[in-house]
Amino acid sequence: MSPSPYAEMHPSVRLLLGPGPANVHPRVLQAMSAPILGHLDPELLTIMDDIRAMLQLVFRTQNELTLALSGTGSAGMEACLLNVVEPGEKVIVGVGGYFGWRLTEVARRLGAEVIQLDYPWGDIADPERVIQTYRQHQDAKVLALVHAETSTGVCQPLEEIGQEISRGDTLFLVDCVTSLGGIPVEVDHWKIDLAYSCSQKCIGMPSGLSPVTVSEKARAAISKRKSPIPSWYVGFDVLSRYWSEERMYHHTISSTLLYGLREALRLIWEEGLENRWQRHQKYGTLLQERLTSLGFTLFAREGYRLPVLTTVALPARLNPTQARTRLLREHSIEVGAGLGEYKEKLWRIGLMGSNANRANVEYLCGVVTEMLRE
Ligand SMILES: *Cc1c(COP(=O)(O)O)cnc(C)c1O
Repeated sequence: MSPSPYAEMHPSVRLLLGPGPANVHPRVLQAMSAPILGHLDPELLTIMDDIRAMLQLVFRTQNELTLALSGTGSAGMEACLLNVVEPGEKVIVGVGGYFGWRLTEVARRLGAEVIQLDYPWGDIADPERVIQTYRQHQDAKVLALVHAETSTGVCQPLEEIGQEISRGDTLFLVDCVTSLGGIPVEVDHWKIDLAYSCSQKCIGMPSGLSPVTVSEKARAAISKRKSPIPSWYVGFDVLSRYWSEERMYHHTISSTLLYGLREALRLIWEEGLENRWQRHQKYGTLLQERLTSLGFTLFAREGYRLPVLTTVALPARLNPTQARTRLLREHSIEVGAGLGEYKEKLWRIGLMGSNANRANVEYLCGVVTEMLRE
């Protein structure tokens, strides 16, 4: 039979062990089938308030301006940069992976003068070097780093850098897309001014929303802009008027996505944020131990390995691309390919949200063991 656009669809049940999306808890999907509410319905506004309160807990912040943007993590990245950066201003960006590079690209498109601090893929940006660069460019508007670099599996230390930057006018912008809900993120304690994430990685819902939080220091900088914020849709000035008491009509936010996010955050709250970090750490470490004993080589620098996203080179017997294709076709398991020059060389394995459990580690390692025996 030829494929028809009118036929029923039956997407396969996948075990999503790539860099996101991850599988979501059934309670989240169920919440997303609740009746639609209008974007200014008092019931929906209450749900938005609940979400803000829970996002403040997950981000560990008191920031009033904490909300879920309509869009994916990339929307959060664009929003955080474009609300604060004006043409000609300096933006320092640490680049040791694909997403650091993407930050420079967004900043360039905004007309910023990008000061690129390169460091090798698989390594961290050495805090001393970052601080040195900052001291040479204290007039920079923003210093931006990726907390969990999903292309390399590296966790970037932030605290020392945040403390240093907080003394001046430069804003500290951090990509928390892969870290939020999976490993410690301490927005207030680390003096982060702008942080964004996504819904489909460690938060545990489908993609479509981007949690964002903005400090008072960043809000003050926005109010002192010389040129208008070059976006309506993700302009924090107008968005905050929708998410605050004023309830100004801004855009038709998806009630369905908000239900999903509320339930996903409630699951985090039920588990306890710190327990959740520990669970991700435990099974990420277990996966890394198992893979090493099977002859895989971990890519990220020891001591800075993310538990939520493991980057590995395969034993010579396995071709990364072919083995990945077989995992999907024969076992319905998705793992990620490397990015950039590592496309044919690495696997990126995610254990995010409810996927971070022993059964998934055993299942994947069992299948891989079989493939190695053939
Ligand atoms: C996934 C990811 C993004 C992009 O998020 P989308 O939701 O795919 O738009 C940005 N930064 C990092 C570090 C990521 O892992």
